[in-house]
Amino acid sequence: MNYDPLVSSHVSPSLPMPSTYWHSTHSCKSYPSLSDDIKTDYLIIGGGYTGLSAAITLAEAGKSPVLIDAHSIGFGCAGRNGGFVLSGSGRMALSAIEAKWGKETAKGMQGEFDGAVHLLKKRISQYDMQVDFCEGPYYKLAHNAKQATHLHNAARKQKNLFGVHSNLLSQNDVEGNFAIKNTFGGVQVDGACLHPLKLADEYARTATTLGALLYYDTPALSLNKHTDTYTVTTPTATIHAKNVLIASNAYTPKQFHVAVDNKQFPVQSSIFVTTPLTTQQRDITGLNKPMSFMDTRMMKYYYRVLPDGRLLFGGRGAVLGKHSDNDSEKARLYKAMTKSFPALDGIAMTHFWSGWVSVSFDDMPRIFIDAEPNGSLGYAMGYCGSGVSFAAHAGMRLAQRMLDEGKNEIDLSLPLYQSALPTFPFATFRRMALRGLYQWAKVAER
Ligand SMILES: Cc1cc2nc3c(=O)[nH]c(=O)nc-3n(C[C@H](O)[C@H](O)[C@H](O)COP(=O)(O)OP(=O)(O)OC[C@H]3O[C@@H](n4cnc5c(N)ncnc54)[C@H](O)[C@@H]3O)c2cc1C
Repeated sequence: MNYDPLVSSHVSPSLPMPSTYWHSTHSCKSYPSLSDDIKTDYLIIGGGYTGLSAAITLAEAGKSPVLIDAHSIGFGCAGRNGGFVLSGSGRMALSAIEAKWGKETAKGMQGEFDGAVHLLKKRISQYDMQVDFCEGPYYKLAHNAKQATHLHNAARKQKNLFGVHSNLLSQNDVEGNFAIKNTFGGVQVDGACLHPLKLADEYARTATTLGALLYYDTPALSLNKHTDTYTVTTPTATIHAKNVLIASNAYTPKQFHVAVDNKQFPVQSSIFVTTPLTTQQRDITGLNKPMSFMDTRMMKYYYRVLPDGRLLFGGRGAVLGKHSDNDSEKARLYKAMTKSFPALDGIAMTHFWSGWVSVSFDDMPRIFIDAEPNGSLGYAMGYCGSGVSFAAHAGMRLAQRMLDEGKNEIDLSLPLYQSALPTFPFATFRRMALRGLYQWAKVAER
C-alpha cells in the first residue's frame, strides 16, 4: 500500500523504499531511530531538504537541534524529485507577484528565489557536497501560440524589471534544435540539475557534522502543547521540545496539528526514466547533453537529459495514492513523451515512481511561526512542486525566525512570511475538484 497523506494515519517506517532511479544509483547513510525519551530546545519534524536545512542553520548558530523523520533519507520528495534547480517556488511568476503586490515586493521575492539557488551553490562548495551538480540550458516551451506570446512578453518584462536574461525562441528555433512536436516557441535561460537523493544525503552528513542529532524511522504520532513545552510522541519515545519546526510538507498526515491541518493539498507528480538514448536517438532528438525542459501546460510536463544519457520525463500523477503505480499511469506519461518525441517511441522505461507535492491554496508557499513567550511552533510548506533549491532556503528561514539573531535578516513584509497558509475551503472536496481539473486538462491541454 502506497502512502497517501489524505488516507494513511502517518508515514510508516515499514513502507517500502521508493523505487526511483536515484535510489538505484545511490545508497544513503542510515541513521538510528529514537528509542529513549529526550528533551531539546529545537525539534524538527521531517528530514527532507526543509528539515535538514533548518538543522544545519540551527547547528551553525551553535544550537543542538534534534530532527526526526518517519522513514529514511529521501523517502519524501527529497528522494523523488526531478533534480531541476529552479529560481522560484509556488505557482506565481514574478510578473504575477508584481501585479498583485507591486514592484518592490516582487523584487524582494526575486531576492528570496535567487537567494535559494545561491545558498545551494554556497553550501555545495562550503561543505564539499558531491551531488552531481551540472549546469546546462533550461527551456520553457509553449504548448500553444497564445502561450508562446505570453512567454515572450513575460521574458521581456523579466529582463526590464528584474534583469533576468533569456533567449526568446521561435517555433522554428525550437524545431531546428530538437525534434520536439507540438511546441510553438519558448525561452531559454541558464539552468542546472543535480542528483536529488545525494543532495539529501549530503545535507544529513553536514547537519550531523555540525552537531545536529538525526533520527530516522521515527514518526511523530502526536504533537501537543503543555504549559511551556511541546510534547511529541513517537512509537518508542516521547520528546519534550521548547520550539518545534514542522518540515513534513506534503507528507504531513491529514490530522496532525491545527497549525497545518487542511493548509495544503498533497498532489502527486510522477516520473519515469528511460534506458540511455542511443547515438542515433540523441542525434535525431537533439537531446545530446545535460539540459532541462518544462512546458506551459497547467498540468506541466518536465524532462531532462541525465548525465548518463537517459531521459527523465515527469508530469502529473494519479489522484489517489493507491493508484500511483498503475500501468495506466505509466502508459499515460509514456504517451505524452512519445507525442513530444515520436523518435523515442519504443524506448524502454527502466524506472517509474511518484511523490506528493504540497500545493497551497493561493499558490504562495509560507514560512510561518506562531511565536509564544515560552517557545514557538512553525512550519515551511506549500512549495507547489518547486523546492530543490527553495526548500533548503525555507528551512534556513524557518530556523532564522526561531533565532533572535537571525530574524533581522528577513523581510517579514514579503507574502512568504506575512501570514499563515490559508485553509482550504471545502477541504474534503479537494480531490473531486482535482479530478475535474484533470478531465478539463485532458481536453483543453492535449
Ligand atoms: C515527482 C516530483 C518531482 C519534483 N521535481 C522537482 C524539481 O525538479 N525541481 C524542484 O525544484 N522541485 C521538484 N519537486 C518538489 C521538491 O522535491 C519538493 O518541494 C522538496 O523536496 C520538498 O522538500 P521537503 O523537505 O519540504 O519535503 P520532503 O522531502 O517531502 O520531506 C518531508 C519528510 O517528512 C517526513 N514526515 C512526514 N510526516 C512525518 C511525521 N509525522 N513524523 C516525522 N517525519 C514525517 C517524511 O518521511 C519526509 O521524509 C518535485 C516533487 C516531486 C514529488
